Amino acid sequence: MLQLPILEVKDLAVSFGRGAWPAVLGLDFSLAKGEVVGLVGESGSGKSITAYSLMGLLPFGANLDAGSIVFMGQDLAKLPPEERRQLCGTRMGLIFQEPLTALNPVFSIGEQVAEIFRYRLGLSRAEAKSRAIDLLGHVGLPNPGAAYHNYPHRFSGGMRQRVVIAMALALNPDLVIADEPTTALDPTIEAQIIGLIKKLAAERGSAVLFITHNLRLLIGLTNRILVMYHGLVVEELTDFRDLRHPYSQGLWRALPPEPGKRSDRHLEPIPGYSPTPGEKFRGCAFAPRCSQALEVCHILAPPFQTLAPQRRVRCHLSC
Ligand code: SF4
Repeated sequence: MLQLPILEVKDLAVSFGRGAWPAVLGLDFSLAKGEVVGLVGESGSGKSITAYSLMGLLPFGANLDAGSIVFMGQDLAKLPPEERRQLCGTRMGLIFQEPLTALNPVFSIGEQVAEIFRYRLGLSRAEAKSRAIDLLGHVGLPNPGAAYHNYPHRFSGGMRQRVVIAMALALNPDLVIADEPTTALDPTIEAQIIGLIKKLAAERGSAVLFITHNLRLLIGLTNRILVMYHGLVVEELTDFRDLRHPYSQGLWRALPPEPGKRSDRHLEPIPGYSPTPGEKFRGCAFAPRCSQALEVCHILAPPFQTLAPQRRVRCHLSC
């Protein structure tokens, strides 16, 4: 049974400066309670800008030009900054890409986790410390009582990411946005971190928007995948074996073999380069790199066709 969405994004457009090609254009998707949705694409496709616009953390110079972000019935774009900050720190959690820069080097990791309980819930120092130690243990830090007093530089990348996950999930948010949370980790730790996010989100009933450039990471993790290219969602699907857009197929073929598994398949990079943000195109933005491009692709932008519920493709070949 489909649940009511907790997040509904409609026609979202974000740009850097007037007249520039939007970094995100016409973004339209929803997330239900407990659902895990993957957002995949190359660097510069608009994935992280999407995450930052949801959290109200757009960088200087970026403008939310159009659209609405309705979270738990409230349009975030219309909320006063203070109310939005409150909501984002409690009902929405963000797991950052690089845990070393997400953590403050001059405070122990325990203090940084306890601070959330003190600031957001008004707990006493002793209560906040006790909750922080419990949480550090829950995300898999060995000897959490001792770990509480250690500083970020004393931990490996994987352990630091566990601390960042603890901070994002501390208040049982309804929505967790994980922005390439395993980019700096080796494959074994990567698998552990993905398993941890999945387990904790399921325990807490949080919806997750998982952002990555690696399509394979989403297998078994997500219920639904959105593929982004040059600020547009070009494909939405629930079964990764049914990739139809030439860009999605290219992302899949460009993946190296699975770690530890033999494969005779050759790695096939997508030819050309992904467009720079702001670059303008006539027709389909992927046409200069697409081996299946038709004449019409260079003239007319393809519509976003709905093939079935939660199944959309933006390609002339699917019209
Ligand atoms: Fe390729 Fe044309 Fe489809 Fe664009 S619309 S992905 S150029 S076939």
